Amino acid sequence: MTQATVFQTLEAVFGDRFTTSPSDRENHGRSESYFDTMPPDAVVYVRDEQDCIRLVEHCYTNDLAMIPWGAGTSLEAQAAAPRGGVCVDFSQMNRVLDIDTDNMLVTVEPGITRKTLDHALRHTGLFFPVDPGADATLGGMASTRASGTTTVRYGTMRENVRALRVVTAAGQVIETGTRAAKSAAGYDLTSLFVGAEGTLGLITQITLKLHPRPSAISAGRVAFDHFDAAVQTVIETIQTGLPAARIEFVDTATVEAVNAYGNLNMPHLPHLLFEFHGDTDSVIKYAQDFQALCHANGGQDCAFSNQTEERTALWAMRHDAYYAIRALHAGARAIVTDICVPLSKLAQAVSETQHDIAQSRLHGPILGHMGDGNFHAILLVDPDHPTDMATARALSDRMAERALALGGTCTGEHGVGLGKRKFMTAEHGAAWSAMGAIKTALDPKGLFNPGKLVP
Ligand SMILES: Cc1cc2nc3c(=O)[nH]c(=O)nc-3n(C[C@H](O)[C@H](O)[C@H](O)COP(=O)(O)OP(=O)(O)OC[C@H]3O[C@@H](n4cnc5c(N)ncnc54)[C@H](O)[C@@H]3O)c2cc1C
Repeated sequence: MTQATVFQTLEAVFGDRFTTSPSDRENHGRSESYFDTMPPDAVVYVRDEQDCIRLVEHCYTNDLAMIPWGAGTSLEAQAAAPRGGVCVDFSQMNRVLDIDTDNMLVTVEPGITRKTLDHALRHTGLFFPVDPGADATLGGMASTRASGTTTVRYGTMRENVRALRVVTAAGQVIETGTRAAKSAAGYDLTSLFVGAEGTLGLITQITLKLHPRPSAISAGRVAFDHFDAAVQTVIETIQTGLPAARIEFVDTATVEAVNAYGNLNMPHLPHLLFEFHGDTDSVIKYAQDFQALCHANGGQDCAFSNQTEERTALWAMRHDAYYAIRALHAGARAIVTDICVPLSKLAQAVSETQHDIAQSRLHGPILGHMGDGNFHAILLVDPDHPTDMATARALSDRMAERALALGGTCTGEHGVGLGKRKFMTAEHGAAWSAMGAIKTALDPKGLFNPGKLVP
């Protein structure tokens, strides 16, 4: 069948939820990062699992690529369509299916966003902690194995997805995992699909682990003269078992950007931002113990509070940092780098990166999830400058190479997509071919999100 005939069939099946309109295609080919727009040939808005089965059957019979789409916030062009095909938009498949408070689990459709889920859980006393900043969908977060500011305490999507339902290339629905807290029954397929970036099938249901919503939270910030002292404080915090729920780092350039964006007056120094969860007495005690560690390492201006408004302002500032940095240069594009190293190597990785950026003409504030050894330089590129993009790519590549040399990874949380494929051999060796073999076994025609992640 020609593509036009296949599209007529899909239109007959999905009605106005199938579209080839230029604006829809354009919107589904955009990335939040520096990649050019790569639009699909068509978009289908799926509403339930049956839609997904029907779509996979049609596409597989007619050799049509399928690119799953959650909220499109991924940063390595994971949801773009470099080879065309059909974008599978999950935004209308967004129900909460079951809240199981006894077992602290929630089952959702993949198109629900993090903030909508949080709202739905508000009355339960429980919450879902993985927070990548952007209001991403749970399907996208599972597929990129997302993490964020709370990972140091609650883990990444890998630790927080209990079970999945997935439509495979055969149009069959498979269930991975159970509601039980553990299992020794065979290959861990849940972990295989978490982080697969839509290359192995369509996720149609996700069962997530919930956590008790803390009755009290203390949060604050502390400035340091030198980054090394901040790292030392974080290492001691973790070694002494202080249960930090978030420990974030912002460098001086980021502080300058958030001050300008939010009309703040933080001292022009590197800062740690921190948060502790527990009951009222314990969070104050944790914050005081943390404050003592900070002072011993030269920390200044350590301020913390357990008032909701102040905490909300602190984390709004952190989550807006990306937009604050972009606002420094109107019209600039951003390359958001992402590496993760062992904590003991973090000071070296950050200072060498800062040195590299300082040698270039680019502005590149650094911020990161310090408790995990994960950080980002946000490299601002003038799209009209002849060498900026090449310089930024070279800086980003050097960061990834350095992370690997220090025993870390080329991506802590943003994933592989198109941008990090070139480091997969260096990071995984023959294991990357093993990933390719798994892909071929589960998707013999290579129609799920082609060109991404695997060889
Ligand atoms: C300002 C900003 C800050 C960010 N900070 C972080 C951070 O701290 N931590 C972090 O981890 N990420 C971060 N990100 C990146 C991004 O938010 C995450 O990668 C997120 O998990 C993507 O979710 P999404 O719903 O937007 O997915 P999309 O971008 O739509 O898709 C991501 C991948 O998932 C696949 N996919 C989506 N739905 C399904 C499905 N149902 N079945 C199979 N495959 C599917 C897609 O094909 C694609 O490969 C940030 C992004 C921005 C813009």
